[in-house]
Amino acid sequence: METMLSERGKKLIVIQKYKFRKHRETALGVFYRCTVRTCSASISVDKTEEVLLQVNGQHNHPSIENLQVKKLQNAIKRKVTEDISLRPSKIINMGINEAPNVLNMFHISLKRKT
Ligand SMILES: [Zn+2]
Repeated sequence: METMLSERGKKLIVIQKYKFRKHRETALGVFYRCTVRTCSASISVDKTEEVLLQVNGQHNHPSIENLQVKKLQNAIKRKVTEDISLRPSKIINMGINEAPNVLNMFHISLKRKT
């Protein structure tokens, strides 16, 4: 099962480019809801959160096309907030290794802050 971390570091499950966040645990399994508030789509997974049991409802919005970029953005944002001693140049170097596109975006946001 594909998972990613949200900007706040919460686990999200990704199914066909749609993101789901944990809603509640029951005896039957764990329910995840679409991260879009107005969307009623949900999934249920088993207790280990490794097996997809059921997909419920339809999404009322398009899926995320740039999911990989978003994943990296979240990862970099977390690095910045978690480790303030990390020098920007070091973070930028990590960005180059990971994805040049993200680096550009990140670089712009760094400039804005200073
Ligand atoms: Zn949805």
